[in-house]
Amino acid sequence: MASIDSVWSVRYGERVVRKNDVFYDYAQYGLPDGDLHMDYNFWVIRSGEKVILMDTGYDISARDWLGELSVMPTPEGLELIGLDPLDVNMVITSHFHYDHIGYLGLFKNAQVVSGADEYEYWFGKRNSNALEGEFTTEENLVPVEAAEKEGRLRLISEPTEVFPGITVYQVGGHCPGEVIAHIDTEGSGLILASDAAHFYEQIEHEWPFFAYTNLDQMRAAMKFLLKLAKETGATIIPGHDGRTRDRFAAVPGDAGRIATVLA
Ligand SMILES: [Zn+2]
Repeated sequence: MASIDSVWSVRYGERVVRKNDVFYDYAQYGLPDGDLHMDYNFWVIRSGEKVILMDTGYDISARDWLGELSVMPTPEGLELIGLDPLDVNMVITSHFHYDHIGYLGLFKNAQVVSGADEYEYWFGKRNSNALEGEFTTEENLVPVEAAEKEGRLRLISEPTEVFPGITVYQVGGHCPGEVIAHIDTEGSGLILASDAAHFYEQIEHEWPFFAYTNLDQMRAAMKFLLKLAKETGATIIPGHDGRTRDRFAAVPGDAGRIATVLA
């Protein structure tokens, strides 16, 4: 019996984007432009009394970086599904961009699991005052540093089972220490891709996203996702695709379709 009881995605923000803007060199495919519904999510994994999050969202009301619209701030989203941030045991950060580690400071009791290369890259930039114009601020890094000081930070470079049934892989590409998580669920399993694949097109056609630190690594990360899915039979969940909500059911009673049951 799998030790993982459920995996939900919780939508905290959204915006509509154009394919031409989000896929790297989209013109090369000779296809018409079009809208994509971009969701902003974090993921909640439960195993008995234990709660593990992947990513933590961010406060859109304080600053909408790219015109994001708030759906439900993380603290309210957690309340909606009956969770207190202090009861979260582990937070896996897919990477350190603003839309993935805002609110990380709320999870004061959680072990924080991050890519080793992510830590090195962003703290290197911070220490040389080179964060200007990046998708991460000095403020974003404060809770990571706090977790480190309190002995709650675990940096991963090799594939690591960080919790029974949850294996984290550092794949890079979008960010140097981008990680994905394979979740061994009762069904065939899930792969939370986060920003290793923002949209379904990226796993269906291996189209790179426009924002990356290493394009070759981003292509390799998409190939790795597909290989892992093939080997394990798991379903890949892209990080920002609104169509995930069409493919999976809402949490019962959630009329606003904030939370979606992935497993
Ligand atoms: Zn993102």
